[in-house]
Amino acid sequence: MSKQVVVVGGGVIGLLTAFNLAAKVGHVVVCDQGEVGRESSWAGGGIVSPLYPWRYSPAVTALAHWSQDFYPQLGERLFASTGVDPEVHTTGLYWLDLDDEAQALAWAEREQRPLSAVDISAAYDAVPVLGPGFKRAIYMAGVANVRNPRLVKSLKAALLAMPNVTLREHCQITGFAQQGGRVAGVQTADGVLAADEVVLSAGAWSGDLLRTLGLALPVEPVKGQMILFKCAEDFLPSMVLAKGRYAIPRRDGHILVGSTLEHAGYDKTPTGDALQSLKASAVELLPELEGATVVAHWAGLRPGSPEGIPYIGPVPGHAGLWLNCGHYRNGLVLAPASCQLFTDLLTGAEPIIDPAPYAPAGRLG
Ligand SMILES: Cc1cc2nc3c(=O)[nH]c(=O)nc-3n(C[C@H](O)[C@H](O)[C@H](O)COP(=O)(O)OP(=O)(O)OC[C@H]3O[C@@H](n4cnc5c(N)ncnc54)[C@H](O)[C@@H]3O)c2cc1C
Repeated sequence: MSKQVVVVGGGVIGLLTAFNLAAKVGHVVVCDQGEVGRESSWAGGGIVSPLYPWRYSPAVTALAHWSQDFYPQLGERLFASTGVDPEVHTTGLYWLDLDDEAQALAWAEREQRPLSAVDISAAYDAVPVLGPGFKRAIYMAGVANVRNPRLVKSLKAALLAMPNVTLREHCQITGFAQQGGRVAGVQTADGVLAADEVVLSAGAWSGDLLRTLGLALPVEPVKGQMILFKCAEDFLPSMVLAKGRYAIPRRDGHILVGSTLEHAGYDKTPTGDALQSLKASAVELLPELEGATVVAHWAGLRPGSPEGIPYIGPVPGHAGLWLNCGHYRNGLVLAPASCQLFTDLLTGAEPIIDPAPYAPAGRLG
Protein backbone atom coordinates (compact mmCIF):
# COMPACT_ATOMS: atom_id res chain seq x y z
CA MET A 1 0.00 0.00 0.00
CA SER A 2 1.51 3.36 -0.99
CA LYS A 3 -0.83 5.40 1.19
CA GLN A 4 0.12 8.31 3.42
CA VAL A 5 -1.43 7.93 6.88
CA VAL A 6 -1.52 10.77 9.41
CA VAL A 7 -1.79 9.71 13.05
CA VAL A 8 -3.11 12.43 15.39
CA GLY A 9 -1.65 11.97 18.88
CA GLY A 10 1.59 10.27 19.88
CA GLY A 11 0.71 8.47 23.10
CA VAL A 12 1.24 4.71 23.33
CA ILE A 13 -1.77 4.18 21.06
CA GLY A 14 -0.65 6.55 18.30
CA LEU A 15 2.99 5.45 18.48
CA LEU A 16 2.24 1.74 18.36
CA THR A 17 -0.32 2.29 15.61
CA ALA A 18 2.34 4.10 13.58
CA PHE A 19 4.90 1.37 14.35
CA ASN A 20 2.54 -1.32 13.00
CA LEU A 21 1.35 0.70 10.01
CA ALA A 22 4.86 1.62 8.92
CA ALA A 23 5.43 -1.98 7.81
CA LYS A 24 2.27 -1.92 5.69
CA VAL A 25 1.75 1.53 4.15
CA GLY A 26 3.84 4.05 2.21
CA HIS A 27 4.37 6.81 4.74
CA VAL A 28 3.19 7.52 8.29
CA VAL A 29 3.22 10.96 9.93
CA VAL A 30 2.61 11.20 13.68
CA CYS A 31 1.54 14.67 14.87
CA ASP A 32 1.51 15.54 18.56
CA GLN A 33 0.63 18.88 20.08
CA GLY A 34 3.43 18.41 22.60
CA GLU A 35 6.26 15.90 22.77
CA VAL A 36 5.16 12.36 21.97
CA GLY A 37 4.57 10.05 24.92
CA ARG A 38 4.34 12.73 27.60
CA GLU A 39 0.65 12.57 28.52
CA SER A 40 -1.35 9.68 29.95
CA SER A 41 0.99 7.09 28.46
CA TRP A 42 3.85 8.56 30.49
CA ALA A 43 1.76 9.12 33.64
CA GLY A 44 0.20 5.68 33.97
CA GLY A 45 1.30 2.83 36.22
CA GLY A 46 1.82 0.28 33.48
CA ILE A 47 0.13 -2.73 35.07
CA VAL A 48 -0.31 -5.19 32.21
CA SER A 49 -3.81 -6.11 33.39
CA PRO A 50 -7.01 -4.26 34.10
CA LEU A 51 -7.08 -3.54 37.85
CA TYR A 52 -10.09 -5.82 38.39
CA PRO A 53 -10.23 -7.79 35.15
CA TRP A 54 -13.36 -9.73 36.10
CA ARG A 55 -15.38 -6.49 36.31
CA TYR A 56 -14.91 -5.72 32.61
CA SER A 57 -16.85 -6.81 29.55
CA PRO A 58 -15.63 -9.62 27.26
CA ALA A 59 -14.62 -6.86 24.80
CA VAL A 60 -11.97 -5.50 27.17
CA THR A 61 -10.95 -9.01 28.24
CA ALA A 62 -10.30 -10.08 24.63
CA LEU A 63 -7.93 -7.17 24.02
CA ALA A 64 -6.24 -7.61 27.40
CA HIS A 65 -5.52 -11.30 26.92
CA TRP A 66 -4.07 -10.87 23.44
CA SER A 67 -1.88 -8.04 24.69
CA GLN A 68 -0.69 -9.81 27.83
CA ASP A 69 0.61 -12.69 25.74
CA PHE A 70 2.27 -10.28 23.31
CA TYR A 71 3.97 -7.88 25.74
CA PRO A 72 7.16 -9.86 26.45
CA GLN A 73 8.00 -10.16 22.74
CA LEU A 74 7.15 -6.52 22.11
CA GLY A 75 9.49 -5.51 24.95
CA GLU A 76 12.30 -7.71 23.66
CA ARG A 77 11.90 -6.50 20.09
CA LEU A 78 11.93 -2.83 21.07
CA PHE A 79 14.92 -3.32 23.38
CA ALA A 80 16.87 -5.17 20.68
CA SER A 81 16.18 -2.57 18.02
CA THR A 82 16.52 0.63 20.09
CA GLY A 83 18.65 -0.18 23.15
CA VAL A 84 15.86 1.27 25.34
CA ASP A 85 14.38 -1.46 27.54
CA PRO A 86 10.63 -1.05 28.25
CA GLU A 87 11.24 -3.35 31.25
CA VAL A 88 8.35 -5.76 31.08
CA HIS A 89 8.63 -6.90 34.71
CA THR A 90 6.69 -10.04 35.63
CA THR A 91 5.94 -9.93 39.36
CA GLY A 92 2.43 -11.35 39.77
CA LEU A 93 -0.28 -9.42 41.61
CA TYR A 94 -1.95 -9.91 45.02
CA TRP A 95 -5.47 -8.56 45.54
CA LEU A 96 -6.21 -8.19 49.26
CA ASP A 97 -9.57 -8.32 51.05
CA LEU A 98 -11.67 -8.13 47.91
CA ASP A 99 -15.45 -7.84 48.21
CA ASP A 100 -16.09 -9.73 44.98
CA GLU A 101 -13.55 -12.52 45.38
CA ALA A 102 -16.07 -15.18 44.35
CA GLN A 103 -16.77 -13.37 41.07
CA ALA A 104 -13.04 -13.01 40.48
CA LEU A 105 -12.43 -16.73 40.96
CA ALA A 106 -15.41 -17.69 38.78
CA TRP A 107 -14.13 -15.37 36.03
CA ALA A 108 -10.64 -16.88 36.26
CA GLU A 109 -12.02 -20.38 35.88
CA ARG A 110 -14.14 -19.36 32.90
CA GLU A 111 -11.29 -17.48 31.24
CA GLN A 112 -8.61 -20.01 32.18
CA ARG A 113 -6.47 -17.37 33.91
CA PRO A 114 -3.95 -18.33 36.62
CA LEU A 115 -5.80 -16.55 39.44
CA SER A 116 -6.40 -18.40 42.69
CA ALA A 117 -7.19 -17.85 46.36
CA VAL A 118 -4.12 -18.18 48.57
CA ASP A 119 -3.82 -18.47 52.30
CA ILE A 120 -3.14 -15.02 53.75
CA SER A 121 0.00 -16.42 55.44
CA ALA A 122 1.33 -17.33 51.98
CA ALA A 123 0.83 -13.71 50.89
CA TYR A 124 2.77 -12.50 53.95
CA ASP A 125 5.51 -15.05 53.25
CA ALA A 126 5.79 -13.88 49.65
CA VAL A 127 5.58 -10.17 50.50
CA PRO A 128 7.07 -9.75 53.99
CA VAL A 129 6.72 -5.95 53.86
CA LEU A 130 2.93 -6.18 53.45
CA GLY A 131 1.02 -4.22 56.11
CA PRO A 132 -0.74 -6.04 58.99
CA GLY A 133 -4.41 -6.93 59.21
CA PHE A 134 -5.23 -8.23 55.75
CA LYS A 135 -7.43 -11.30 55.97
CA ARG A 136 -7.78 -12.70 52.46
CA ALA A 137 -5.74 -12.72 49.26
CA ILE A 138 -6.04 -13.87 45.70
CA TYR A 139 -2.98 -14.05 43.49
CA MET A 140 -2.47 -13.99 39.74
CA ALA A 141 0.91 -15.26 38.64
CA GLY A 142 2.41 -13.98 35.43
CA VAL A 143 1.03 -10.42 35.61
CA ALA A 144 3.68 -7.94 34.54
CA ASN A 145 4.11 -4.22 34.67
CA VAL A 146 5.75 -2.26 31.91
CA ARG A 147 7.86 0.81 32.58
CA ASN A 148 5.62 2.99 30.44
CA PRO A 149 7.89 6.08 30.18
CA ARG A 150 10.55 3.74 28.76
CA LEU A 151 8.02 2.01 26.51
CA VAL A 152 7.06 5.27 24.82
CA LYS A 153 10.71 6.33 24.68
CA SER A 154 11.68 3.13 22.91
CA LEU A 155 8.69 3.36 20.54
CA LYS A 156 9.78 6.89 19.67
CA ALA A 157 13.34 5.70 19.02
CA ALA A 158 12.06 2.85 16.84
CA LEU A 159 9.91 5.24 14.80
CA LEU A 160 12.74 7.74 14.37
CA ALA A 161 14.80 4.95 12.80
CA MET A 162 12.11 4.07 10.25
CA PRO A 163 12.66 5.76 6.88
CA ASN A 164 8.96 6.04 6.07
CA VAL A 165 7.87 7.58 9.40
CA THR A 166 7.88 11.28 10.27
CA LEU A 167 7.34 12.50 13.83
CA ARG A 168 5.99 16.03 14.10
CA GLU A 169 6.09 17.20 17.70
CA HIS A 170 4.57 20.51 18.83
CA CYS A 171 2.19 20.19 15.90
CA GLN A 172 -1.37 20.70 17.09
CA ILE A 173 -4.16 19.47 14.86
CA THR A 174 -7.14 21.81 14.92
CA GLY A 175 -9.50 20.07 12.51
CA PHE A 176 -9.86 17.93 9.42
CA ALA A 177 -9.51 18.79 5.74
CA GLN A 178 -12.24 17.38 3.49
CA GLN A 179 -12.21 16.75 -0.23
CA GLY A 180 -14.53 14.85 -2.51
CA GLY A 181 -16.75 13.79 0.39
CA ARG A 182 -13.96 12.28 2.45
CA VAL A 183 -11.46 13.31 5.08
CA ALA A 184 -8.31 14.06 3.14
CA GLY A 185 -5.98 15.50 5.76
CA VAL A 186 -5.63 17.51 8.94
CA GLN A 187 -5.38 21.22 9.71
CA THR A 188 -2.13 22.36 11.29
CA ALA A 189 -0.84 25.85 12.09
CA ASP A 190 1.22 25.55 8.88
CA GLY A 191 -1.79 24.63 6.73
CA VAL A 192 -3.27 21.34 5.60
CA LEU A 193 -1.30 18.13 5.91
CA ALA A 194 -2.74 15.81 3.25
CA ALA A 195 -3.46 12.16 4.00
CA ASP A 196 -5.14 9.18 2.41
CA GLU A 197 -6.22 8.08 5.87
CA VAL A 198 -6.32 9.94 9.19
CA VAL A 199 -6.17 8.13 12.54
CA LEU A 200 -7.46 9.92 15.62
CA SER A 201 -5.57 8.65 18.67
CA ALA A 202 -5.50 11.83 20.71
CA GLY A 203 -6.34 10.19 24.05
CA ALA A 204 -8.50 12.34 26.35
CA TRP A 205 -8.59 15.09 23.69
CA SER A 206 -10.09 12.92 20.93
CA GLY A 207 -13.66 14.11 21.49
CA ASP A 208 -12.69 17.76 20.99
CA LEU A 209 -11.41 17.05 17.51
CA LEU A 210 -14.35 14.91 16.48
CA ARG A 211 -16.68 17.68 17.60
CA THR A 212 -15.34 19.82 14.73
CA LEU A 213 -17.20 17.38 12.44
CA GLY A 214 -20.39 17.63 14.51
CA LEU A 215 -19.83 14.19 16.05
CA ALA A 216 -20.14 13.47 19.78
CA LEU A 217 -17.55 10.99 21.02
CA PRO A 218 -18.12 10.12 24.69
CA VAL A 219 -14.43 10.27 25.66
CA GLU A 220 -13.57 12.60 28.54
CA PRO A 221 -10.48 13.29 30.65
CA VAL A 222 -10.33 11.43 33.97
CA LYS A 223 -7.49 12.69 36.12
CA GLY A 224 -5.27 10.21 37.94
CA GLN A 225 -2.57 11.10 40.46
CA MET A 226 0.34 8.87 41.39
CA ILE A 227 3.29 9.02 43.80
CA LEU A 228 6.73 7.43 43.58
CA PHE A 229 9.16 6.08 46.18
CA LYS A 230 12.68 4.69 45.79
CA CYS A 231 13.49 1.58 47.81
CA ALA A 232 15.98 -1.28 47.68
CA GLU A 233 15.68 -3.37 44.50
CA ASP A 234 14.22 -6.37 46.36
CA PHE A 235 11.88 -4.37 48.64
CA LEU A 236 8.62 -5.40 46.97
CA PRO A 237 8.59 -8.71 45.07
CA SER A 238 4.99 -8.49 43.78
CA MET A 239 2.38 -5.92 42.91
CA VAL A 240 -0.21 -5.53 45.70
CA LEU A 241 -3.68 -4.01 45.56
CA ALA A 242 -6.25 -3.21 48.27
CA LYS A 243 -9.21 -0.82 48.42
CA GLY A 244 -8.60 0.39 44.87
CA ARG A 245 -5.01 1.44 45.57
CA TYR A 246 -1.94 -0.41 44.36
CA ALA A 247 1.84 -0.52 44.67
CA ILE A 248 3.93 -1.41 41.62
CA PRO A 249 7.62 -2.33 41.89
CA ARG A 250 9.96 -1.39 39.05
CA ARG A 251 13.10 -3.47 38.61
CA ASP A 252 15.36 -0.81 40.13
CA GLY A 253 13.37 -0.45 43.38
CA HIS A 254 11.16 2.45 42.39
CA ILE A 255 7.67 1.88 43.82
CA LEU A 256 4.65 3.59 42.26
CA VAL A 257 1.54 4.02 44.35
CA GLY A 258 -1.71 5.01 42.65
CA SER A 259 -4.09 6.26 41.87
CA THR A 260 -6.89 8.79 42.17
CA LEU A 261 -9.89 8.97 39.86
CA GLU A 262 -11.07 12.55 39.43
CA HIS A 263 -13.31 14.43 37.02
CA ALA A 264 -11.52 17.76 36.81
CA GLY A 265 -11.56 18.59 33.11
CA TYR A 266 -8.10 19.05 31.60
CA ASP A 267 -6.51 20.15 34.88
CA LYS A 268 -3.37 18.12 35.58
CA THR A 269 -2.19 19.87 38.75
CA PRO A 270 -1.09 17.45 41.49
CA THR A 271 -2.89 18.28 44.76
CA GLY A 272 -1.97 18.15 48.44
CA ASP A 273 -5.10 16.17 49.29
CA ALA A 274 -4.23 13.46 46.81
CA LEU A 275 -0.66 13.36 48.08
CA GLN A 276 -1.86 12.75 51.66
CA SER A 277 -4.41 10.18 50.59
CA LEU A 278 -1.95 8.27 48.38
CA LYS A 279 0.69 8.33 51.14
CA ALA A 280 -1.85 6.91 53.61
CA SER A 281 -2.68 4.10 51.15
CA ALA A 282 1.02 3.45 50.61
CA VAL A 283 1.65 3.10 54.34
CA GLU A 284 -1.40 0.86 54.82
CA LEU A 285 -0.13 -1.45 52.10
CA LEU A 286 3.57 -1.17 52.97
CA PRO A 287 4.20 0.34 56.44
CA GLU A 288 7.94 0.68 55.82
CA LEU A 289 7.07 3.55 53.47
CA GLU A 290 6.10 5.64 56.52
CA GLY A 291 8.61 8.45 56.58
CA ALA A 292 10.04 7.50 53.18
CA THR A 293 10.53 10.36 50.77
CA VAL A 294 8.04 10.75 47.96
CA VAL A 295 10.47 11.29 45.08
CA ALA A 296 7.80 12.33 42.57
CA HIS A 297 4.08 13.10 42.39
CA TRP A 298 2.21 13.70 39.15
CA ALA A 299 -1.15 13.55 37.41
CA GLY A 300 -2.26 12.35 34.00
CA LEU A 301 -5.51 12.39 32.04
CA ARG A 302 -7.01 9.04 31.13
CA PRO A 303 -9.19 8.92 28.03
CA GLY A 304 -12.38 7.91 29.85
CA SER A 305 -14.99 6.02 27.81
CA PRO A 306 -18.22 4.15 28.64
CA GLU A 307 -17.26 0.79 30.22
CA GLY A 308 -13.67 1.46 29.16
CA ILE A 309 -14.34 -0.05 25.73
CA PRO A 310 -12.11 1.70 23.18
CA TYR A 311 -13.20 2.96 19.78
CA ILE A 312 -11.28 1.12 17.07
CA GLY A 313 -12.25 1.38 13.42
CA PRO A 314 -13.60 3.69 10.71
CA VAL A 315 -15.87 6.66 11.45
CA PRO A 316 -19.16 6.06 9.61
CA GLY A 317 -20.07 8.79 7.12
CA HIS A 318 -16.52 10.19 7.08
CA ALA A 319 -14.47 8.02 4.74
CA GLY A 320 -10.76 8.39 5.41
CA LEU A 321 -11.18 8.97 9.16
CA TRP A 322 -10.44 6.29 11.75
CA LEU A 323 -10.48 6.08 15.55
CA ASN A 324 -8.16 4.31 17.96
CA CYS A 325 -8.95 5.98 21.28
CA GLY A 326 -10.90 5.83 24.56
CA HIS A 327 -8.80 3.21 26.35
CA TYR A 328 -9.58 4.76 29.76
CA ARG A 329 -7.76 2.97 32.63
CA ASN A 330 -6.25 0.25 30.45
CA GLY A 331 -4.49 1.87 27.52
CA LEU A 332 -1.11 0.39 28.34
CA VAL A 333 -2.33 -3.17 28.69
CA LEU A 334 -4.71 -2.89 25.73
CA ALA A 335 -2.30 -1.13 23.35
CA PRO A 336 -0.72 -4.12 21.54
CA ALA A 337 -4.04 -5.76 20.64
CA SER A 338 -5.79 -2.45 19.90
CA CYS A 339 -3.05 -1.32 17.54
CA GLN A 340 -2.78 -4.70 15.81
CA LEU A 341 -6.55 -4.88 15.35
CA PHE A 342 -6.53 -1.31 14.07
CA THR A 343 -3.78 -2.10 11.55
CA ASP A 344 -5.66 -5.18 10.37
CA LEU A 345 -8.79 -3.12 9.78
CA LEU A 346 -7.06 -0.27 7.95
CA THR A 347 -5.06 -2.59 5.71
CA GLY A 348 -7.88 -5.07 5.06
CA ALA A 349 -6.10 -7.99 6.76
CA GLU A 350 -7.87 -10.73 8.71
CA PRO A 351 -8.52 -9.13 12.15
CA ILE A 352 -6.84 -10.76 15.16
CA ILE A 353 -10.13 -10.67 17.08
CA ASP A 354 -13.75 -9.81 16.30
CA PRO A 355 -13.74 -6.03 15.74
CA ALA A 356 -17.50 -5.54 16.27
CA PRO A 357 -17.49 -4.47 19.96
CA TYR A 358 -15.06 -1.63 19.28
CA ALA A 359 -16.63 -0.28 16.06
CA PRO A 360 -17.40 3.46 16.27
CA ALA A 361 -20.58 2.86 14.22
CA GLY A 362 -23.60 3.27 16.47
CA ARG A 363 -21.53 4.57 19.40
CA LEU A 364 -21.16 8.23 18.33
CA GLY A 365 -23.80 10.90 18.94
C1 LIG B 1 -2.50 7.65 37.02
C2 LIG B 1 -2.75 6.71 35.87
C3 LIG B 1 -2.51 5.35 36.04
C4 LIG B 1 -2.70 4.48 34.96
N1 LIG B 1 -2.36 3.17 35.11
C5 LIG B 1 -2.50 2.31 34.08
C6 LIG B 1 -2.11 0.96 34.20
O1 LIG B 1 -1.57 0.54 35.24
N2 LIG B 1 -2.29 0.11 33.13
C7 LIG B 1 -2.86 0.55 31.98
O2 LIG B 1 -3.04 -0.24 31.06
N3 LIG B 1 -3.23 1.84 31.82
C8 LIG B 1 -3.06 2.72 32.84
N4 LIG B 1 -3.45 4.03 32.71
C9 LIG B 1 -4.17 4.43 31.49
C10 LIG B 1 -3.24 4.66 30.32
O3 LIG B 1 -2.18 5.50 30.73
C11 LIG B 1 -4.03 5.30 29.18
O4 LIG B 1 -5.20 4.55 28.86
C12 LIG B 1 -3.18 5.37 27.90
O5 LIG B 1 -1.94 5.96 28.17
C13 LIG B 1 -3.90 6.15 26.80
O6 LIG B 1 -3.01 6.29 25.72
P1 LIG B 1 -3.33 7.29 24.54
O7 LIG B 1 -2.22 7.16 23.57
O8 LIG B 1 -4.72 7.06 24.07
O9 LIG B 1 -3.36 8.74 25.23
P2 LIG B 1 -2.18 9.75 25.62
O10 LIG B 1 -1.00 9.04 26.14
O11 LIG B 1 -2.79 10.79 26.51
O12 LIG B 1 -1.76 10.38 24.24
C14 LIG B 1 -2.58 11.25 23.51
C15 LIG B 1 -1.68 12.20 22.76
O13 LIG B 1 -2.46 13.01 21.89
C16 LIG B 1 -1.88 14.29 21.85
N5 LIG B 1 -2.89 15.22 21.36
C17 LIG B 1 -4.05 15.55 21.95
N6 LIG B 1 -4.73 16.44 21.20
C18 LIG B 1 -3.99 16.68 20.11
C19 LIG B 1 -4.14 17.51 18.97
N7 LIG B 1 -5.23 18.27 18.82
N8 LIG B 1 -3.16 17.54 18.03
C20 LIG B 1 -2.05 16.76 18.18
N9 LIG B 1 -1.85 15.96 19.26
C21 LIG B 1 -2.82 15.91 20.20
C22 LIG B 1 -1.43 14.53 23.28
O14 LIG B 1 -0.42 15.53 23.35
C23 LIG B 1 -0.93 13.16 23.70
O15 LIG B 1 0.46 13.00 23.52
C24 LIG B 1 -3.21 4.95 33.74
C25 LIG B 1 -3.44 6.33 33.57
C26 LIG B 1 -3.20 7.20 34.61
C27 LIG B 1 -3.41 8.67 34.40
